[in-house]
Amino acid sequence: MPEPATRLTRIPPYLFADLERQRRLVEARGQRVISFSIGDPDLPTAPAVVARLLQEAPRAEHHRYPPYEGTASFRKSVAGYYQRRFGVDLDADREVVAAIGSKEAISHLVWAYIDPGDLSIVPEPAYPVYANQTLLAGGEVYALPLREEEGFLADLTAIPDPVARRAKLLFLNYPHNPTGAVASLAYFEQAVAFCRRWDILLVSDAAYVEMTFGALAPSVLEVPGAKEVAVEFYSLSKPFNMTGWRLGAMVGQEAAVAALKAVKTNTDSGQFSAIQAAGEEILNEGASAFVSAMNGVYRRRRDLLVMGLRQLGWAVPEPRGTFYLWARVPDGDDQAFASRLLAEAGVATSPGRGFGAAGTGYLRWALTVSEDQIAEALERLKDVLPALLAGS
Ligand SMILES: *Cc1c(COP(=O)(O)O)cnc(C)c1O
Repeated sequence: MPEPATRLTRIPPYLFADLERQRRLVEARGQRVISFSIGDPDLPTAPAVVARLLQEAPRAEHHRYPPYEGTASFRKSVAGYYQRRFGVDLDADREVVAAIGSKEAISHLVWAYIDPGDLSIVPEPAYPVYANQTLLAGGEVYALPLREEEGFLADLTAIPDPVARRAKLLFLNYPHNPTGAVASLAYFEQAVAFCRRWDILLVSDAAYVEMTFGALAPSVLEVPGAKEVAVEFYSLSKPFNMTGWRLGAMVGQEAAVAALKAVKTNTDSGQFSAIQAAGEEILNEGASAFVSAMNGVYRRRRDLLVMGLRQLGWAVPEPRGTFYLWARVPDGDDQAFASRLLAEAGVATSPGRGFGAAGTGYLRWALTVSEDQIAEALERLKDVLPALLAGS
Protein backbone atom coordinates (compact mmCIF):
# COMPACT_ATOMS: atom_id res chain seq x y z
CA MET A 1 0.00 0.00 0.00
CA PRO A 2 1.22 3.53 -0.74
CA GLU A 3 1.68 5.89 2.20
CA PRO A 4 -1.15 8.36 2.81
CA ALA A 5 -0.31 11.93 1.82
CA THR A 6 2.26 13.65 4.02
CA ARG A 7 -0.29 16.39 4.71
CA LEU A 8 -1.96 13.96 7.10
CA THR A 9 1.15 14.03 9.25
CA ARG A 10 0.73 17.79 9.70
CA ILE A 11 -2.39 17.54 11.87
CA PRO A 12 -1.85 16.81 15.57
CA PRO A 13 -2.58 13.31 16.90
CA TYR A 14 -5.96 12.72 18.51
CA LEU A 15 -5.42 13.77 22.12
CA PHE A 16 -8.32 12.03 23.75
CA ALA A 17 -7.53 8.44 22.80
CA ASP A 18 -6.34 7.82 26.37
CA LEU A 19 -9.49 9.25 27.88
CA GLU A 20 -11.64 7.12 25.61
CA ARG A 21 -9.76 4.01 26.67
CA GLN A 22 -10.26 5.01 30.28
CA ARG A 23 -13.94 5.62 29.70
CA ARG A 24 -14.37 2.08 28.40
CA LEU A 25 -12.63 0.79 31.53
CA VAL A 26 -15.01 2.74 33.77
CA GLU A 27 -17.99 1.40 31.82
CA ALA A 28 -16.61 -2.14 31.96
CA ARG A 29 -16.62 -1.79 35.77
CA GLY A 30 -20.36 -1.25 35.45
CA GLN A 31 -20.45 2.49 36.15
CA ARG A 32 -22.43 4.59 33.70
CA VAL A 33 -20.40 7.60 32.56
CA ILE A 34 -22.12 10.99 32.61
CA SER A 35 -20.63 12.80 29.66
CA PHE A 36 -20.11 16.55 29.51
CA SER A 37 -17.50 16.10 26.84
CA ILE A 38 -19.35 16.55 23.54
CA GLY A 39 -21.02 19.72 22.27
CA ASP A 40 -23.98 17.98 20.68
CA PRO A 41 -27.51 19.00 21.76
CA ASP A 42 -29.31 16.15 23.55
CA LEU A 43 -32.86 17.40 22.89
CA PRO A 44 -34.88 16.72 19.72
CA THR A 45 -35.16 18.97 16.67
CA ALA A 46 -38.20 21.26 16.61
CA PRO A 47 -41.25 19.10 15.65
CA ALA A 48 -42.21 21.54 12.86
CA VAL A 49 -38.90 20.86 11.10
CA VAL A 50 -39.34 17.09 11.33
CA ALA A 51 -42.93 17.35 10.07
CA ARG A 52 -41.82 19.43 7.10
CA LEU A 53 -39.17 16.87 6.15
CA LEU A 54 -41.80 14.11 6.22
CA GLN A 55 -43.95 16.19 3.94
CA GLU A 56 -41.09 17.07 1.56
CA ALA A 57 -39.22 13.76 1.39
CA PRO A 58 -41.63 11.98 -1.02
CA ARG A 59 -41.58 14.79 -3.58
CA ALA A 60 -39.67 13.70 -6.69
CA GLU A 61 -38.19 17.15 -7.29
CA HIS A 62 -36.00 16.56 -4.23
CA HIS A 63 -34.71 13.24 -5.49
CA ARG A 64 -32.27 14.69 -7.98
CA TYR A 65 -29.06 16.66 -7.46
CA PRO A 66 -29.77 19.90 -5.63
CA PRO A 67 -28.33 23.19 -6.95
CA TYR A 68 -24.67 23.45 -5.87
CA GLU A 69 -25.12 26.77 -4.10
CA GLY A 70 -28.24 25.62 -2.23
CA THR A 71 -31.86 26.00 -3.27
CA ALA A 72 -33.03 29.53 -4.05
CA SER A 73 -35.69 29.31 -1.35
CA PHE A 74 -33.24 28.18 1.35
CA ARG A 75 -30.85 31.00 0.45
CA LYS A 76 -33.76 33.47 0.58
CA SER A 77 -34.73 32.15 4.00
CA VAL A 78 -31.20 32.71 5.27
CA ALA A 79 -31.20 36.24 3.84
CA GLY A 80 -34.64 36.92 5.38
CA TYR A 81 -33.39 35.65 8.69
CA TYR A 82 -30.31 37.93 8.60
CA GLN A 83 -32.58 40.86 7.79
CA ARG A 84 -35.02 40.19 10.64
CA ARG A 85 -32.48 39.13 13.26
CA PHE A 86 -29.54 41.45 12.51
CA GLY A 87 -30.89 44.12 10.16
CA VAL A 88 -28.33 42.91 7.58
CA ASP A 89 -29.25 42.92 3.87
CA LEU A 90 -27.87 40.02 1.85
CA ASP A 91 -28.21 39.27 -1.83
CA ALA A 92 -29.45 35.68 -1.74
CA ASP A 93 -27.75 34.90 -5.06
CA ARG A 94 -24.35 36.46 -4.62
CA GLU A 95 -23.87 36.68 -0.86
CA VAL A 96 -25.33 33.41 0.45
CA VAL A 97 -24.23 29.83 -0.16
CA ALA A 98 -25.73 26.79 1.56
CA ALA A 99 -23.45 24.45 3.50
CA ILE A 100 -23.65 20.77 4.43
CA GLY A 101 -23.17 21.91 8.03
CA SER A 102 -20.83 24.80 8.67
CA LYS A 103 -17.85 22.49 9.31
CA GLU A 104 -17.94 21.51 5.65
CA ALA A 105 -17.99 25.09 4.43
CA ILE A 106 -15.34 26.31 6.90
CA SER A 107 -13.05 23.54 5.67
CA HIS A 108 -13.66 24.30 2.02
CA LEU A 109 -13.26 28.05 2.51
CA VAL A 110 -9.79 27.36 3.90
CA TRP A 111 -8.96 25.36 0.73
CA ALA A 112 -10.29 28.25 -1.34
CA TYR A 113 -7.78 30.68 0.24
CA ILE A 114 -4.78 28.86 1.68
CA ASP A 115 -1.89 27.82 -0.56
CA PRO A 116 1.23 26.15 0.84
CA GLY A 117 3.02 28.73 2.99
CA ASP A 118 -0.03 30.98 3.44
CA LEU A 119 -0.98 32.08 6.93
CA SER A 120 -4.15 31.91 9.03
CA ILE A 121 -4.50 33.73 12.34
CA VAL A 122 -6.33 31.51 14.81
CA PRO A 123 -7.16 32.79 18.30
CA GLU A 124 -6.83 29.83 20.66
CA PRO A 125 -8.36 27.91 22.39
CA ALA A 126 -10.50 27.23 19.34
CA TYR A 127 -12.67 24.82 17.42
CA PRO A 128 -9.87 22.66 15.94
CA VAL A 129 -11.08 22.84 12.31
CA TYR A 130 -9.64 26.31 11.55
CA ALA A 131 -6.05 25.32 12.36
CA ASN A 132 -6.21 21.74 11.14
CA GLN A 133 -7.65 22.59 7.72
CA THR A 134 -5.05 25.34 7.31
CA LEU A 135 -2.35 22.75 8.03
CA LEU A 136 -3.88 20.19 5.65
CA ALA A 137 -3.91 22.82 2.91
CA GLY A 138 -0.17 23.33 3.48
CA GLY A 139 -0.59 26.63 5.27
CA GLU A 140 0.77 27.92 8.56
CA VAL A 141 -1.11 28.89 11.68
CA TYR A 142 -0.38 31.88 13.87
CA ALA A 143 -1.99 30.94 17.20
CA LEU A 144 -3.07 34.02 19.12
CA PRO A 145 -3.66 33.07 22.77
CA LEU A 146 -6.95 34.22 24.29
CA ARG A 147 -6.66 35.35 27.88
CA GLU A 148 -9.20 35.06 30.65
CA GLU A 149 -8.21 38.56 31.93
CA GLU A 150 -9.25 39.95 28.52
CA GLY A 151 -12.59 38.16 28.55
CA PHE A 152 -11.20 35.75 25.93
CA LEU A 153 -11.49 38.44 23.25
CA ALA A 154 -8.59 38.18 20.81
CA ASP A 155 -6.20 41.12 21.28
CA LEU A 156 -5.59 42.05 17.66
CA THR A 157 -3.07 44.73 18.66
CA ALA A 158 -0.81 41.89 19.88
CA ILE A 159 -0.42 40.56 16.33
CA PRO A 160 3.02 41.57 15.00
CA ASP A 161 2.89 43.61 11.78
CA PRO A 162 4.81 41.03 9.71
CA VAL A 163 2.22 38.40 10.71
CA ALA A 164 -0.69 40.68 9.85
CA ARG A 165 0.96 41.51 6.52
CA ARG A 166 1.29 37.83 5.58
CA ALA A 167 -2.05 36.58 6.91
CA LYS A 168 -4.90 35.77 4.55
CA LEU A 169 -7.51 34.67 7.07
CA LEU A 170 -8.45 35.72 10.60
CA PHE A 171 -10.87 33.41 12.40
CA LEU A 172 -13.22 34.75 15.07
CA ASN A 173 -15.91 32.73 16.84
CA TYR A 174 -18.21 34.63 19.19
CA PRO A 175 -20.13 33.44 21.16
CA HIS A 176 -17.05 31.33 21.66
CA ASN A 177 -16.49 27.61 21.82
CA PRO A 178 -14.97 26.61 24.26
CA THR A 179 -14.87 29.64 26.61
CA GLY A 180 -18.46 30.93 26.32
CA ALA A 181 -17.20 34.48 25.71
CA VAL A 182 -19.47 36.87 23.80
CA ALA A 183 -18.16 39.78 21.67
CA SER A 184 -19.83 43.17 21.37
CA LEU A 185 -20.48 44.98 18.12
CA ALA A 186 -17.73 47.45 19.13
CA TYR A 187 -15.28 44.54 19.26
CA PHE A 188 -16.34 43.41 15.79
CA GLU A 189 -15.84 46.98 14.53
CA GLN A 190 -12.19 46.80 15.59
CA ALA A 191 -11.80 43.42 13.93
CA VAL A 192 -13.29 44.68 10.66
CA ALA A 193 -10.97 47.71 10.74
CA PHE A 194 -7.98 45.43 11.39
CA CYS A 195 -8.84 43.16 8.46
CA ARG A 196 -9.46 46.11 6.17
CA ARG A 197 -6.10 47.62 7.11
CA TRP A 198 -4.16 44.41 6.44
CA ASP A 199 -6.25 43.03 3.58
CA ILE A 200 -7.30 39.92 5.49
CA LEU A 201 -10.53 37.97 5.04
CA LEU A 202 -12.35 38.01 8.39
CA VAL A 203 -13.96 34.63 8.95
CA SER A 204 -16.64 34.80 11.61
CA ASP A 205 -17.99 31.51 12.90
CA ALA A 206 -21.45 32.33 14.26
CA ALA A 207 -22.46 28.77 15.18
CA TYR A 208 -23.60 30.01 18.63
CA VAL A 209 -24.90 33.47 17.71
CA GLU A 210 -28.37 32.55 19.02
CA MET A 211 -27.07 31.07 22.23
CA THR A 212 -26.62 33.72 24.90
CA PHE A 213 -27.93 34.10 28.44
CA GLY A 214 -28.31 37.88 28.34
CA ALA A 215 -28.45 40.34 25.46
CA LEU A 216 -28.62 39.07 21.87
CA ALA A 217 -25.22 38.50 20.28
CA PRO A 218 -24.36 40.55 17.17
CA SER A 219 -23.37 39.34 13.72
CA VAL A 220 -20.07 40.71 12.41
CA LEU A 221 -22.02 41.79 9.31
CA GLU A 222 -23.85 44.41 11.39
CA VAL A 223 -20.64 46.47 11.22
CA PRO A 224 -21.03 49.00 8.39
CA GLY A 225 -18.90 47.91 5.43
CA ALA A 226 -18.20 44.48 6.92
CA LYS A 227 -19.40 42.73 3.79
CA GLU A 228 -16.32 44.04 1.98
CA VAL A 229 -13.94 42.10 4.23
CA ALA A 230 -15.92 39.46 6.12
CA VAL A 231 -17.82 36.23 5.74
CA GLU A 232 -19.90 34.59 8.41
CA PHE A 233 -20.80 30.95 8.96
CA TYR A 234 -24.31 30.36 10.18
CA SER A 235 -25.36 26.91 11.37
CA LEU A 236 -28.72 25.40 12.20
CA SER A 237 -27.00 22.66 14.21
CA LYS A 238 -26.68 24.07 17.68
CA PRO A 239 -29.66 26.47 18.09
CA PHE A 240 -32.25 24.13 16.57
CA ASN A 241 -30.88 20.76 17.75
CA MET A 242 -30.05 19.80 14.17
CA THR A 243 -26.45 18.55 14.29
CA GLY A 244 -27.43 15.34 12.49
CA TRP A 245 -29.18 17.15 9.64
CA ARG A 246 -26.06 18.93 8.34
CA LEU A 247 -27.33 22.34 7.33
CA GLY A 248 -25.81 25.80 7.46
CA ALA A 249 -24.69 28.65 5.26
CA MET A 250 -21.84 31.01 4.54
CA VAL A 251 -22.86 34.62 3.97
CA GLY A 252 -21.10 37.91 3.23
CA GLN A 253 -18.12 38.88 1.07
CA GLU A 254 -19.11 38.23 -2.52
CA ALA A 255 -15.73 37.12 -3.90
CA ALA A 256 -15.32 34.71 -0.98
CA VAL A 257 -18.78 33.28 -1.65
CA ALA A 258 -17.74 32.72 -5.29
CA ALA A 259 -14.44 31.13 -4.22
CA LEU A 260 -16.20 28.76 -1.84
CA LYS A 261 -18.66 27.78 -4.58
CA ALA A 262 -15.71 27.03 -6.90
CA VAL A 263 -14.33 24.51 -4.38
CA LYS A 264 -17.71 23.06 -3.53
CA THR A 265 -18.86 22.47 -7.09
CA ASN A 266 -15.79 20.28 -7.50
CA THR A 267 -16.12 18.51 -4.17
CA ASP A 268 -19.70 17.92 -3.09
CA SER A 269 -23.16 18.13 -4.56
CA GLY A 270 -25.01 19.97 -1.85
CA GLN A 271 -27.45 19.00 0.87
CA PHE A 272 -30.66 17.02 0.15
CA SER A 273 -33.09 19.75 -0.88
CA ALA A 274 -35.87 18.31 1.31
CA ILE A 275 -33.61 19.01 4.31
CA GLN A 276 -33.04 22.54 3.05
CA ALA A 277 -36.83 22.99 2.86
CA ALA A 278 -37.22 21.64 6.41
CA GLY A 279 -34.57 24.10 7.58
CA GLU A 280 -36.52 26.98 6.05
CA GLU A 281 -39.41 26.01 8.27
CA ILE A 282 -37.55 27.10 11.41
CA LEU A 283 -35.73 30.06 9.82
CA ASN A 284 -38.98 31.54 8.50
CA GLU A 285 -41.18 30.89 11.53
CA GLY A 286 -40.73 30.12 15.20
CA ALA A 287 -36.92 30.53 15.28
CA SER A 288 -36.89 33.03 18.09
CA ALA A 289 -39.48 31.13 20.16
CA PHE A 290 -37.51 27.89 19.81
CA VAL A 291 -34.25 29.64 20.60
CA SER A 292 -35.62 31.28 23.77
CA ALA A 293 -37.01 27.97 24.99
CA MET A 294 -33.67 26.23 24.43
CA ASN A 295 -31.68 29.04 26.01
CA GLY A 296 -33.97 28.70 29.05
CA VAL A 297 -33.08 25.00 29.26
CA TYR A 298 -29.35 25.72 29.02
CA ARG A 299 -29.61 28.53 31.55
CA ARG A 300 -31.16 26.20 34.15
CA ARG A 301 -28.48 23.60 33.48
CA ARG A 302 -25.73 26.22 33.65
CA ASP A 303 -27.00 27.59 36.96
CA LEU A 304 -27.30 24.12 38.45
CA LEU A 305 -23.79 23.08 37.40
CA VAL A 306 -22.12 26.39 38.25
CA MET A 307 -23.74 26.57 41.69
CA GLY A 308 -23.03 22.92 42.38
CA LEU A 309 -19.35 23.15 41.46
CA ARG A 310 -18.97 26.35 43.49
CA GLN A 311 -20.57 24.66 46.51
CA LEU A 312 -17.97 21.92 46.21
CA GLY A 313 -15.24 24.56 46.35
CA TRP A 314 -14.47 25.19 42.68
CA ALA A 315 -14.77 28.91 41.82
CA VAL A 316 -15.93 28.42 38.21
CA PRO A 317 -17.05 31.43 36.13
CA GLU A 318 -20.51 31.79 34.62
CA PRO A 319 -20.51 31.58 30.81
CA ARG A 320 -22.40 34.36 28.97
CA GLY A 321 -23.09 32.36 25.85
CA THR A 322 -22.87 28.97 24.07
CA PHE A 323 -23.63 25.84 26.06
CA TYR A 324 -20.18 25.38 27.55
CA LEU A 325 -18.62 25.99 30.92
CA TRP A 326 -14.88 26.71 30.77
CA ALA A 327 -13.12 26.33 34.09
CA ARG A 328 -9.51 26.55 35.15
CA VAL A 329 -8.23 23.53 37.07
CA PRO A 330 -6.26 24.35 40.24
CA ASP A 331 -2.95 22.69 39.42
CA GLY A 332 -3.02 23.47 35.71
CA ASP A 333 -3.02 19.84 34.56
CA ASP A 334 -6.29 19.57 32.66
CA GLN A 335 -5.59 16.11 31.32
CA ALA A 336 -4.83 14.60 34.74
CA PHE A 337 -7.84 16.38 36.26
CA ALA A 338 -10.21 15.11 33.56
CA SER A 339 -8.76 11.66 33.93
CA ARG A 340 -9.42 11.59 37.70
CA LEU A 341 -12.98 12.94 37.33
CA LEU A 342 -13.62 10.11 34.92
CA ALA A 343 -11.93 7.35 36.93
CA GLU A 344 -13.21 8.40 40.36
CA ALA A 345 -16.67 9.80 39.58
CA GLY A 346 -17.54 8.51 36.10
CA VAL A 347 -17.84 12.11 34.90
CA ALA A 348 -16.40 12.86 31.45
CA THR A 349 -15.22 16.36 30.45
CA SER A 350 -12.94 17.72 27.74
CA PRO A 351 -9.39 18.73 28.68
CA GLY A 352 -8.74 22.23 27.39
CA ARG A 353 -5.54 21.38 25.53
CA GLY A 354 -7.67 19.64 22.90
CA PHE A 355 -8.60 23.17 21.75
CA GLY A 356 -4.98 24.24 21.29
CA ALA A 357 -2.05 24.82 23.64
CA ALA A 358 -3.69 27.96 25.06
CA GLY A 359 -6.47 25.76 26.41
CA THR A 360 -4.09 23.86 28.68
CA GLY A 361 -5.13 24.14 32.31
CA TYR A 362 -8.88 24.32 31.64
CA LEU A 363 -11.74 21.85 31.39
CA ARG A 364 -14.73 22.25 29.11
CA TRP A 365 -18.13 21.06 30.32
CA ALA A 366 -20.89 20.86 27.69
CA LEU A 367 -24.36 21.58 29.07
CA THR A 368 -25.88 18.96 26.78
CA VAL A 369 -26.84 16.85 29.80
CA SER A 370 -30.24 16.85 31.58
CA GLU A 371 -30.72 18.51 34.98
CA ASP A 372 -31.22 15.08 36.55
CA GLN A 373 -27.90 13.92 35.17
CA ILE A 374 -26.17 17.12 36.28
CA ALA A 375 -27.57 16.59 39.77
CA GLU A 376 -26.31 13.02 39.75
CA ALA A 377 -22.88 14.12 38.53
CA LEU A 378 -22.68 16.67 41.35
CA GLU A 379 -23.67 13.98 43.84
CA ARG A 380 -20.86 11.74 42.57
CA LEU A 381 -18.41 14.65 42.79
CA LYS A 382 -19.25 15.39 46.42
CA ASP A 383 -16.32 13.49 47.84
CA VAL A 384 -14.08 13.41 44.81
CA LEU A 385 -13.90 17.09 43.90
CA PRO A 386 -12.90 18.64 47.26
CA ALA A 387 -10.03 16.14 47.52
CA LEU A 388 -8.94 16.85 43.96
CA LEU A 389 -9.10 20.60 44.50
CA ALA A 390 -7.03 20.23 47.65
CA GLY A 391 -4.39 18.52 45.53
CA SER A 392 -4.64 15.01 46.92
C1 LIG B 1 -20.32 22.73 16.32
C2 LIG B 1 -19.49 23.82 15.75
C3 LIG B 1 -19.43 24.02 14.37
C4 LIG B 1 -19.97 23.04 13.36
O1 LIG B 1 -21.27 23.01 13.23
P1 LIG B 1 -21.94 22.26 11.99
O2 LIG B 1 -22.75 23.34 11.36
O3 LIG B 1 -22.75 21.19 12.64
O4 LIG B 1 -20.90 21.73 11.10
C5 LIG B 1 -18.74 25.10 13.88
N1 LIG B 1 -18.09 25.93 14.71
C6 LIG B 1 -18.09 25.75 16.03
C7 LIG B 1 -17.35 26.71 16.87
C8 LIG B 1 -18.78 24.68 16.59
O5 LIG B 1 -18.72 24.49 17.91
